[in-house]
Amino acid sequence: MKDCIFCKIAAGEIPCSKIYEDDAFLAFHDIAPQAPLHFLLIPKRHIRNIMEIEGGDDALLGALLYKAQALAVELGCGEKGARFVVNCKADGGQTVDHLHIHVLGGRPLAWPPG
Ligand code: 5GP
Ligand code: ZN
Repeated sequence: MKDCIFCKIAAGEIPCSKIYEDDAFLAFHDIAPQAPLHFLLIPKRHIRNIMEIEGGDDALLGALLYKAQALAVELGCGEKGARFVVNCKADGGQTVDHLHIHVLGGRPLAWPPG
């Protein structure tokens, strides 16, 4: 998708601190980390947000969540855990309109969010 930052990152047009990549997914460190570990996992395919998921996307989304878990464990969060966040649209605090999971770990995180 033209003018989408995360599509440009996925295409290698904007650099990122890459953690993982395969044909379907890319994980990279957030540019403004909110925890000692804060990375984003995106599908390379442009899906705007979680409201735009369709029935045929369930396998992709299951794989996305499983990959987020695997990377969180690989990066040291298996024992103490992590926060897996999907912001959606204005009220959800989404600022980049390309579906992504935030994975935050390495410190205790408060709840509820403000
Ligand atoms: P959202 O607010 O949409 O849930 O999260 C977007 C996230 O993307 C933010 O945490 C922000 O710091 C991160 N971000 C925005 N632009 C870039 C970028 O160019 N590179 C990286 N690595 N992260 C970005
Ligand atoms: Zn995109």
